Amino acid sequence: MSQQKQARAVVVGSGIGGLTAAVALHQRGWQVTVLERAESLDPVGAGIGLAPNSLRALDVIGLGGTVRDLAAWQGEGGMRAPNGRWLSRTDSAAASERFGGPLVLLHRATLVDVLRSALPGDIVRTGAAATLVDAGEPGGRPAVVRTEAGDLQADLVIGADGVRSGVRGVLFPAYPGAVYAGFTTWRVVVPAPAEPFPPHETWGRGRLWGTQPLKDGRIYAYAAAHAAVGGRSTDGEKAELLRRFGDWHHPVPQILAAAEDAKVLRHDVFHMSTPLDTFHKGRTVLIGDAAHAMCPTMGQGGNQSIEDGVVLGQHLDPAASQAQLGAALAAFTADRLPRTTGIVAKSAKIAKLAMLDSAPAAAVRDTLLRLASLGPSALALRAFDGVCDWQPPQRTYAARTPVHQARQAHQA
Ligand SMILES: Cc1cc2nc3c(=O)[nH]c(=O)nc-3n(C[C@H](O)[C@H](O)[C@H](O)COP(=O)(O)OP(=O)(O)OC[C@H]3O[C@@H](n4cnc5c(N)ncnc54)[C@H](O)[C@@H]3O)c2cc1C
Repeated sequence: MSQQKQARAVVVGSGIGGLTAAVALHQRGWQVTVLERAESLDPVGAGIGLAPNSLRALDVIGLGGTVRDLAAWQGEGGMRAPNGRWLSRTDSAAASERFGGPLVLLHRATLVDVLRSALPGDIVRTGAAATLVDAGEPGGRPAVVRTEAGDLQADLVIGADGVRSGVRGVLFPAYPGAVYAGFTTWRVVVPAPAEPFPPHETWGRGRLWGTQPLKDGRIYAYAAAHAAVGGRSTDGEKAELLRRFGDWHHPVPQILAAAEDAKVLRHDVFHMSTPLDTFHKGRTVLIGDAAHAMCPTMGQGGNQSIEDGVVLGQHLDPAASQAQLGAALAAFTADRLPRTTGIVAKSAKIAKLAMLDSAPAAAVRDTLLRLASLGPSALALRAFDGVCDWQPPQRTYAARTPVHQARQAHQA
């Protein structure tokens, strides 16, 4: 934020949110450093669904087209009951038409590669656990982040360090933190079964299962079930999945047969059922799961992290005066907090509905779902109105890096 030297931003965490923010700020002309405590950028081996809202955000930083090319879902899909009966049917064309673009399912590693390759090689430092020691003061002292290699001073710090965010703990020590949502999840990527199937999410009693194709021909499957927090199966998670889902409709048994026990990921779900009052303090701002961790039932956590990163870039002009930083961060909070708070609440509501334990309640739910889907548009799509049709506040940045401008001039 100074006229003389390049403004410096330090991003804590190189997940989807941190990398997106890094790309956005780099394109705006910030000097960016990303600190990641893991030794490498290899993400957990599972899939992720990106909806038209985050793809439009990625358009702002020039990456939407690359990701859209990875779209795999063509044809029918929808919601089913464990015996295979359809509760709500839709197809990829209807989804595209309703939200202005396709849903893209891709491997997390692919998404991280796309984001990482939009950054110069020296921006991301791995093996660099970071602690915020001073949130800084706009127009006053810089923010300070501590690493083993020493302290870094910054005009701006972005806490993109996930659901158990240490940056959040320093900024808002009285905040109670994310709470257990009451269910655990499993994820696995397997080769496609021989017999074809339409992509689906299947709701049972206290359990759900989803199977989605990836562009590379493999299958991404996820499951959720009520379970005690911290629980782990003594005979492996594949055996646990077989017990809970082994008699569900095709292709669930085939996916389970193909799954390698060591590659089945299990994570308990924590969400921020109490929203923060603000996402920023001093020169420091929270994004992604650090700001608004949500249940994965709408598949929006990563999508919202991407929106955050891009919108943050839109608010932060590196050439603006130091004093304007506070106003820019307040504008970011005003843009993002109401939207993400609504999506956190809706995701929790859908999780409750999806995982009803009682047989009579689940039967009523299934009947209502079928009836609600008899109209011209499937309920499975209507639930995403107001979420997937989001547009970024501005389509592009007013200013980009000299490198970016030169590339654009060359392409023109
Ligand atoms: C089963 C399941 C399925 C999901 N499916 C979807 C989906 O289909 N679509 C979707 O949009 N979302 C989905 N999500 C949610 C999504 O995974 C998260 O919302 C998203 O990954 C959050 O990104 P993030 O960058 O905010 O945080 P994270 O991905 O958690 O990244 C935080 C990073 O910060 C690093 N870090 C932490 N502390 C420090 C420190 N002190 N110093 C340095 N680095 C640190 C961590 O190592 C990590 O790399 C799903 C979640 C689950 C559990």
